[in-house]
Amino acid sequence: MSHTLIQNAALADGRTGCDVRIVDGRIAEIAPQLPVPESARTIDARGFLLAPSFVDAHFHLDATLSHGLPRVNDSGTLLEGIAVWGELKPTLTIEAIAERALRYCDWAVGRGLLAIRSHVDVCDDRLLAVEALLQVKKQVAPYLDLQLVAFPQDGLLRSPRALQNLKRALDLGVDVVGGIPHFERTMADGADSVRVLCELAAERGLPVDMHCDETDDPLSRHIETLAGQTQRLGLQGRVTGSHLTSMHSMDNAYVAKLIPLIAEAGVNVVANPLINITLQGRLDTYPRRRGMTRVPELMAAGVNVAFGHDCAMDPWYPLGSADMLEVAHMGLHVAQMTAPTQIEACFAAVTVNAARVLGLERHGLAVGCDADLVLLQARSVVEAIRLRPSRLLVLRRGRMVACSAPAMAQLDLPGRPASVDWTLLR
Ligand SMILES: [Zn+2]
Repeated sequence: MSHTLIQNAALADGRTGCDVRIVDGRIAEIAPQLPVPESARTIDARGFLLAPSFVDAHFHLDATLSHGLPRVNDSGTLLEGIAVWGELKPTLTIEAIAERALRYCDWAVGRGLLAIRSHVDVCDDRLLAVEALLQVKKQVAPYLDLQLVAFPQDGLLRSPRALQNLKRALDLGVDVVGGIPHFERTMADGADSVRVLCELAAERGLPVDMHCDETDDPLSRHIETLAGQTQRLGLQGRVTGSHLTSMHSMDNAYVAKLIPLIAEAGVNVVANPLINITLQGRLDTYPRRRGMTRVPELMAAGVNVAFGHDCAMDPWYPLGSADMLEVAHMGLHVAQMTAPTQIEACFAAVTVNAARVLGLERHGLAVGCDADLVLLQARSVVEAIRLRPSRLLVLRRGRMVACSAPAMAQLDLPGRPASVDWTLLR
């Protein structure tokens, strides 16, 4: 039996001075000043914030770290990004995709990000990216949960063999049915693709996660169809609408009817603040729209809303660092969620809400949950988002998988200590 006791931690719900007992990789007890068993390893949290590990509900591991290959996206638009990716695809190899994905997973673990849902493009008949990421999924399993979505990037109906390839990817072990209705040729084709994909998911007992309405066009209303098909097929709780940026530009009267439908259908929503704020509004002059979906309104209606990182150094986004606090920070700004409870909601959007999207039932900081935890050099959730501080320790099933030095001044002035003993492990 392995036994770890984390002492004197602040928790995301505002409690301070808490001890957390971990037995065999699971949280066994949370209370102030727990007794120290002889065999236990102890960690002094020094009053810092112990949080559930970060979860990224929306990412593209097959394209990550490919920025500049074969060229950069000059216009910065979604469509040029898709074109650049199309130029890169024929030159991809399994080894190159896997190497970049593994490198990103290393970054993720260092940042306390231990679960990622990644879309994987299935429009290349060779399914190289699928093969590479299935291999990566196995390799990283000891330290990171990787969930894969079969994503027809070039359109399900518009790309000749996309449906056939998507089914092959599911047969190979890809976990979730993806889609991109707004990229089909017509609104009718978009709606048809949603129906076909939801029926496929129902038939196979799989979850659904679609890129949906990632456009500034307020008449792109595929989320309505997605929610409708979710109800028709009894898929409540298993379906996610990613992006939904057209909702930013929709008529308020229509949205007043749409949000209750999304809530009733139990459809999860994933906004991708870093990407939505850079890709949307590109055809606007001024005023220029933000383009992110209506996060506070969806949350107020009881919809489970998560934030995703979406891209890092790929044809769509030249920046990114696997830091989900950076994502929450941007989400908070774009959605103007500055009240304390709203800041906390943005933290939940990159932890527990995102875990719900992935269906990770034992994620969280509660008795019985997996001890997948991150100790941040901050005293509260608000401070964590403000500072995006060092991840002092990252634990996976109670085992340390990453640590960082604390940020601290070394002034060496008379009357000021030159250094502090930062030993956390005893
Ligand atoms: Zn995406």
